[in-house]
Amino acid sequence: MSLLMVRCPRTGQEVWTGIETDPDSFRKIPDDLFYTSCPHCGLDHAWGRDEAWLVHAPGATNDNGLVAGRPRLELRLGHVQDGGASETMP
Ligand SMILES: [Zn+2]
Repeated sequence: MSLLMVRCPRTGQEVWTGIETDPDSFRKIPDDLFYTSCPHCGLDHAWGRDEAWLVHAPGATNDNGLVAGRPRLELRLGHVQDGGASETMP
């Protein structure tokens, strides 16, 4: 999945719209206006598909966003413990 980004017209910073999508779905977005509340200036920005672009999500969004990262981390820790225990077995 990729993150749908727009640019804040006040600060010039990139703003995540809160939408995760893929290039195929991105092309199907209707030519309409959407609103995203901007963390940089605190305003709601209207944007259309032509102003938005996709950035590749660095793995953390395979599930459902950043919140899903925590359980995955715990699973990884548990796996390490299992591996260590089996290695110390005679
Ligand atoms: Zn803004």
